[in-house]
Amino acid sequence: EKSKEGLTKAEEILTRLGVEPSEDDCIAVQHVCAIVSFRSANLIAATLGAILTRLKDNKNTPRLRTIVGIDGSLYKMHPQYARRLHKTVRRLVPESDVRFLLSESGSGKGAAMVTAWASRLADQTRQIAETLAEFRLTEEQLLEVKKRMRTEIQNGLSKNTQSTATVKMLPTYVRSTPDGTENGDFLALDLGGTNFRVLLVKIRSGKRRTVEMHNKIYAIPIEVMQGTGDELFDHIVYCISDFLDYMGMKNTRLPLGFTFSFPCRQTSLDAGILVNWTKGFKATDCEGEDVVSLLRDAIKRREEFDLDVVAVVNDTVGTMMTCAYEEPTCEVGLIAGTGSNACYMEEMRNIETVDGVEGRMCVNMEWGAFGDNGCLDDIRTQYDNAVDDLSLNAGKQKYEKMCSGMYLGEIVRNILIDLTKRGFLFRGQISETLKTRGIFETKYLSQIESDRLALLQVRSILQHLGLDSTCDDSIIVKEVCGAVSHRAAQICGAGMAAVVDKIRENRGLDHLDITVGVDGTLYKLHPHFSPIMHQTVKELAPNCNVNFLLSEDGSGKGAALITAVGCRLRQQEQKS
Ligand code: ADP
Ligand code: MG
Repeated sequence: EKSKEGLTKAEEILTRLGVEPSEDDCIAVQHVCAIVSFRSANLIAATLGAILTRLKDNKNTPRLRTIVGIDGSLYKMHPQYARRLHKTVRRLVPESDVRFLLSESGSGKGAAMVTAWASRLADQTRQIAETLAEFRLTEEQLLEVKKRMRTEIQNGLSKNTQSTATVKMLPTYVRSTPDGTENGDFLALDLGGTNFRVLLVKIRSGKRRTVEMHNKIYAIPIEVMQGTGDELFDHIVYCISDFLDYMGMKNTRLPLGFTFSFPCRQTSLDAGILVNWTKGFKATDCEGEDVVSLLRDAIKRREEFDLDVVAVVNDTVGTMMTCAYEEPTCEVGLIAGTGSNACYMEEMRNIETVDGVEGRMCVNMEWGAFGDNGCLDDIRTQYDNAVDDLSLNAGKQKYEKMCSGMYLGEIVRNILIDLTKRGFLFRGQISETLKTRGIFETKYLSQIESDRLALLQVRSILQHLGLDSTCDDSIIVKEVCGAVSHRAAQICGAGMAAVVDKIRENRGLDHLDITVGVDGTLYKLHPHFSPIMHQTVKELAPNCNVNFLLSEDGSGKGAALITAVGCRLRQQEQKS
């Protein structure tokens, strides 16, 4: 088909093939060749056009700029083929700037390049897997966590180790679970989580037991949370005042239960000295003080109404009591929300810090501080250290920081930063968003890990967070979230296994049936936390049959039940 020598070549080739061509024959043959090759170039151009249009649509741009790499002798050697192909493509996809680039030995060099790329990808996948492997605890490691928790429980209960124990095992002066005779109207306060609430709880005993609750949520501004103690308690009393107005109850002196979900050293049901703040609170002049006195003082300062503060209650205990009201086998309380903590009914003879050996008392474990003596350091990672370093209470609550809602998102964010630095995520670009503390809330773990979610939706969650991600990024982010929440559920389960096995041994039983009352949004809303936690308890405490019961508003209803029990005991004391 070459224009100049084409006809001479045709004659040569035809002659070599054994025909004796006339000049007309040569012209005809040249024509046939042109038709066949022309059609070929056009067909290829048409399919290429379809691909380019698709690319343009995918990228959603008005004009596509791209380069097509081409190899093949037909394209390279044929005198007209390339030109025709280019021309047709440009005509079929006019809204594009396409360049054609000849590949040098695509099948050789290209194969090597694909191999290099694939091995880099494999290397990257391996490094990510290695990073996340630190979060996958073996059964031996979990048994070790259980064993260490058991040791710390013992340290907290024994007189001579209690003062230095990390798991403080604080007596609560709650000696029995409700028996159904509780009756009356009570106020309850719930301080220590995301919200501060004031509640009115009406408990009715008798054949048809009912509990009716009214509550109002109040914000605690961060400057109050981290201001002075007087400001904090004045704010609390202001909220109570507002609530009493709202209910039209200013003039009734109701008994009050104060759910105060921080470690408190109690000497009676209505006295609790704050050991230290946790979970983002930091008001001054409270640590070492009796929080009931602080509350009573603030009520006096306001000179507006009077209240009878009967009990200071930890949320774990409230949760246990609420569930025990429905299910008498409930003798353990667990919180998996902003923080992580548990309580259970311990034998009085084992609680060396309280006089008396008869019966049982509920012990607020304050297990969030497990690990503060370094006993979990072998399973903690650089990311746990980073989260701890940046927290308000560095070096404290190390177990809580591995398994509660306030911190899981931060662990994820720290892993993502590291993977990005190493070039495995977000094209190696650490955005301002990713640098922002607290941006990755734990609720996003729940959303991202939901089984019903397509990858595209994971991407849109990340997008919403301001993290521009590819599809590969979102796969990795999902894996990271899974690793962090899986470990959280497992170590929480290991702690719970230690507790139920202790109760079983206390009672000299080969087998224990027991119910754990649970509260907390992480437990309730995360798609995998609760099943993994249950499974872990089952595996690590095979001689216990543990039933988990969701508590309905443990901090409110539970505080009222404990207050009711407290009132009853007080009346009995007065009589005798
Ligand atoms: P608190 O423990 O503060 O009394 P919650 O039990 O409601 O209250 O827990 C609130 C915490 O739960 C939040 O701080 C957050 O870390 C976590 N959280 C909120 N939404 C979700 C969710 N959808 N999935 C998992 N965790 C969540
Ligand atoms: Mg709570």
